[in-house]
Amino acid sequence: MIMDFKKISTYNKISPEKVIRGANAWEEGKQYIPQICKSPLVIGRSNSTEEIREKLYIDLKSIGLNPLRGKLLYGCCEEDLSRISKLANDHNCDGIIASGGGKVLDAGKLIAYRLDLPSITVPLSAATCAGWTALSNIYSKNGAFIKDQSLKSCPKLLIFDHDFVKEAPKRTLASGIADALAKWYEASLSSGSSDDGLVQQAVQMARVLRDQLFIDGIKALNETSSDSWVRVAEGCALTAGLIGGIGGSKCRTAAAHPIHNGLTQIKSSKLSLHGEIVGFGIIIQLYLEELYSGSQLAKHAKKQLIKFLKELNLPTTINSLGLEGITSDEIKEVYDFICSNHSDVKELPLNIDKDLLYEAFMNSSEENSNCKLFNIKN
Ligand SMILES: [Zn+2]
Repeated sequence: MIMDFKKISTYNKISPEKVIRGANAWEEGKQYIPQICKSPLVIGRSNSTEEIREKLYIDLKSIGLNPLRGKLLYGCCEEDLSRISKLANDHNCDGIIASGGGKVLDAGKLIAYRLDLPSITVPLSAATCAGWTALSNIYSKNGAFIKDQSLKSCPKLLIFDHDFVKEAPKRTLASGIADALAKWYEASLSSGSSDDGLVQQAVQMARVLRDQLFIDGIKALNETSSDSWVRVAEGCALTAGLIGGIGGSKCRTAAAHPIHNGLTQIKSSKLSLHGEIVGFGIIIQLYLEELYSGSQLAKHAKKQLIKFLKELNLPTTINSLGLEGITSDEIKEVYDFICSNHSDVKELPLNIDKDLLYEAFMNSSEENSNCKLFNIKN
């Protein structure tokens, strides 16, 4: 078979142009910023990261730049995107520096893309690989997933400063581990039979990353000064992004992320982090595989995963995700979103419908069978 090499043409989407990582990476990385922009807009969101963002702002001034501060109110939603874009335009900003968690990084990259400006990412947690990728997820201001947007390129510069990331709550690293684990479970299902060598290698990289997270995850969570922490935090924030970059969109999602996207449509999911919901989504995905094909491998993988997620104090049940009070209208919305035509689950070798989802939500783990969830067929 002759490969169509024209389809592999987006090398600028594989990785940021420059990645500076390590303790004190900001000190080294900031010297590259004047080569990229002179008047950057520095955006962030939470009050807990304000001190770090203020340091970035002061440091940028001290190296002769003319930075401006911008604060997101919600996340990567149109309300914030249009307001911050206008701010950047009004002040003739020539670059966007996003400093924060996944939604802040996604917003920064997307604003830069829309304004045709270079973007720089400074992740302040290892909860997602958003600092790396040429992709942004757009949500409503209330946190409901709307769509993802493919960008022209990865950021110009990614600065992964361990000292900054270690300040983040422990929960964000656990959430990042679940999100990074999803790379293997989703890529192996959606792209395991791809004939594209780069995709095959990305899938294998996702397997190696999963193994590393299984080995080092617990220690990383409990000892931020350990080598395990470095391997895990960088695995979640950097390697996971590289896997998406090499493997492309087909390699990224199967059912776990569409299930996450569906669950964000309801209010009760708002207290959970992205990776926390994705981890639950992997459990459901494995159960769907088990249901659909009778796969004992999927059954075993699910058992192994549930045990690991529990050790990380991550939700594995409907109750622990805070969904026990879900109404019939809400669960209908979730099922509709997951099964909609534009959902990635449509491309899977599993024929997922609402009945199968109900079965999976109820029986994916023993604890769920006591929960009250509504079976909605239409
Ligand atoms: Zn994710």
